[in-house]
Amino acid sequence: MKILVINAGSSSLKYQLIDMETENVMAKGLCERIGIEGSKLNHTPDGGEKVVIEKPMKDHADAIKMVLDALTDGNHGVISSMDEISAVGHRVVHGGEEFTGSVIINDEVMKAVEACNPLAPLHNPANIIGIKACEAAMPGVPMVGVFDTAFHQTMPAESFMYGIPYDLYKENKIRRYGFHGTSHKYVTQEAAKMLGKNVDDVKIITCHLGNGSSITAVDGGKSVDTSMGFTPLAGTVMGTRCGDIDPAIVKFIADNKGMTLDEVDTLLNKKSGVDGISGISSDFRDLEAAEAEGNERAHLALSMFSHSVRHFVGAYLFELGGADAIVFTAGIGENTVIIRRDILKGVEALGIKIDPEKNEKAIRGVQMDIATDDSKVRVLVIPTNEELMIAKETEALVK
Ligand code: ADP
Repeated sequence: MKILVINAGSSSLKYQLIDMETENVMAKGLCERIGIEGSKLNHTPDGGEKVVIEKPMKDHADAIKMVLDALTDGNHGVISSMDEISAVGHRVVHGGEEFTGSVIINDEVMKAVEACNPLAPLHNPANIIGIKACEAAMPGVPMVGVFDTAFHQTMPAESFMYGIPYDLYKENKIRRYGFHGTSHKYVTQEAAKMLGKNVDDVKIITCHLGNGSSITAVDGGKSVDTSMGFTPLAGTVMGTRCGDIDPAIVKFIADNKGMTLDEVDTLLNKKSGVDGISGISSDFRDLEAAEAEGNERAHLALSMFSHSVRHFVGAYLFELGGADAIVFTAGIGENTVIIRRDILKGVEALGIKIDPEKNEKAIRGVQMDIATDDSKVRVLVIPTNEELMIAKETEALVK
């Protein structure tokens, strides 16, 4: 079975065509600047050269047509006809409380997804446009929605409720939802395999550390707490997002800087985090280079990041009453030796011992246990693969 995985943004559309027999990515690519001048498609067939096709795409429907053309092209295509695609799996950011798992999309589901738009006004409408464009271009092909929030719907109320008036939860749906669920779920399944355990028996803490970062406590294979909240702004310090701050700071900045609430929102989402602290970059490669040259603000930003991750790992270790493993994944989790070392520094007394040599050797793309042989808690580096997880969920539903 071949499954097309789609991640539609407001002006971009990422795709992968996955052969489920081998889990091989047959082709992948990205449509950029949809609806903006200079739109182009980057398409890379497995084992082939990247092809760049510059052609106006006025909307997502145009983009999908170009993707299907590229996939079936005589030169750089990988299938002979669109009929070879059995189903399409769509990443959908917000499923509210409605979606506790992935679903085959029909009219009723679409309405329920649309009802979640106010919870993710920048993301969900774009995801929906992507689904509609695919439906139009591929009539009769099943579409599946895979939600970033679904994995966290198992959280108990004491984890997901905020200490604000109850009516705001009932009427306005304000609660912790959590994000990166597809990634947390994927690495949970992979961690169970590495530990030689059934997924329903694992107690782990998963650290998805990328441009956005979130930490999740997983008990019996289920999310029981997570660091992101009502939006992906909460939790750890991130690339450009502030993470948890005193909510009173919002009004204070607005009053003292003469900023509107929208401007403060942008400041906290786009100009904060390690970027705002260092004044250098949101990219950890730049920060590590600057720190190595003695830049103190780069050092502060990196220390704050590690500290904020430690804060959640420590809390979740207590909540879970211990863990089989701590998992690192995504751009930072898979690549930064120093950050992994700093997060797990000085906790040997809790049975968590990282092996410096193994930590050094962990390379992106490879699963590795970097704990010492006598560490009670395993420390796992697991490359995330959200696209494969979406494809697997899609396959399971349409089979
Ligand atoms: P996203 O969160 O957008 O999906 P990633 O999970 O790929 O992205 O994470 C991207 C971040 O990972 C980059 O901003 C960078 O900080 C970090 N990163 C990627 N590669 C490296 C590396 N080799 N060394 C240090 N940090 C890296």
